[in-house]
Amino acid sequence: MATALSRLALLQPRSLDEALRRLRDEGPLVPLAGGTDLYVGFHFDTIPGRRFLDLQGLRELDGVRRHGETLVIGALATYTDLIRSPLVRRRLPILAEATRWIGSPQIQNRGTLGGNIANASPAGDTLPVLAAAEATVVLRRVDGERRVPFGSFYTGYRQTVMRPDELIVAVEVPRVEGRQWFRKVGTRAAQAISKVVMAAVRAPRPRIALGSVAPTVVRVPRTEAVLAGGGTLAEAQAILMDEIQPIDDLRSTAAYRRRVSANLLAQFWRDTARAR
Ligand SMILES: Cc1cc2nc3c(=O)[nH]c(=O)nc-3n(C[C@H](O)[C@H](O)[C@H](O)COP(=O)(O)OP(=O)(O)OC[C@H]3O[C@@H](n4cnc5c(N)ncnc54)[C@H](O)[C@@H]3O)c2cc1C
Repeated sequence: MATALSRLALLQPRSLDEALRRLRDEGPLVPLAGGTDLYVGFHFDTIPGRRFLDLQGLRELDGVRRHGETLVIGALATYTDLIRSPLVRRRLPILAEATRWIGSPQIQNRGTLGGNIANASPAGDTLPVLAAAEATVVLRRVDGERRVPFGSFYTGYRQTVMRPDELIVAVEVPRVEGRQWFRKVGTRAAQAISKVVMAAVRAPRPRIALGSVAPTVVRVPRTEAVLAGGGTLAEAQAILMDEIQPIDDLRSTAAYRRRVSANLLAQFWRDTARAR
C-alpha cells in the first residue's frame, strides 16, 4: 500500500446528524462507505484526502423499503443486499441483475449503491439502471435535503452536483412500467470493468441508458424517439451510434463500443418484443 496509514484520520460518527455536522464543521472529509473504490486509491496514493468520515455505523442509510409506490434504497445498501432483496428483485430486477455482475462476492459484500453513484465512474454498472428507471438521488446536509433527478446528477467526467457538506442518503425509484432489460459487456462476465453497459425499459416509451460510452452515464433521447415513433431498428441503431461519444482507451476502442452498443440495442428490442 503506497499510502502510509499513519498519515490518515478516520472519524466515526454515531448518527447521521453527527456525520453531517462533522462534514460541515470539520471538513474537508472524504466519506468512506464500503471502501472498495477508495481502497484502490490507497494503493496508488491517489486518494482525494487524508481525513475520512466512516459511514458504516449510520443505520439511517441502511435498508431497502417501499414508500407508497416508490422503492427507497439506502445509500449503504450493499450489492449483496440488493441481490437478496425481494423488493428489488420484484420492482427493479435489472438492478439485481446489474449487481450480480459486479466484482466478486467480496466486492458485492462491501461495495454500496451510494458509493457506486458518488464515485461517478462512467463505467459504474448500476448507473444505467438508475438512469433508465428515472431514479432520484436524495442528498442531505445539516440544514436540509434535496432530491436530484438522476439525469441531472452528473455534470461531467467524474463530476456531480453534490456539495462537500452533503451525503447521498438514499435513492428513490418510482414504479417502472414496462419490460426491463440489462446487459454488461466486458472482457469476461464478472470481475471486469464494462466496455459497454446498457439498461433499458421497453414501454410505454422506451428508456435507454448506457455506460462507458461518454464522460458520464447517458440516456439517448434521439434513439428513444426513433423507436417510440415507430422508426426501424436500423434507423435507431444509426442514430445511437451517432448519439454516443465513446473513446479509445486501454479497455476498448470507440469503434468497437459503437458497434456493440448498436448490437445491444437490437438485442434489447428483440428480447423485449417477445410475449412474456
Ligand atoms: C476488484 C474490484 C472490482 C470492481 N468491480 C466493479 C464492477 O464490476 N462494476 C462496478 O460498477 N464497480 C466495480 N468496482 C467499483 C466499486 O466496488 C463500486 O463502485 C462500489 O459501489 C463503491 O462503493 P463503496 O461503498 O465501496 O464506495 P467507497 O470506496 O467507500 O467510496 C467511493 C466514493 O464514493 C464516496 N461515497 C461513498 N458513499 C457515499 C455517500 N453515501 N455519500 C457521498 N459520497 C459517498 C466516497 O467518498 C468515494 O469518493 C470494483 C472495485 C474493485 C476493487
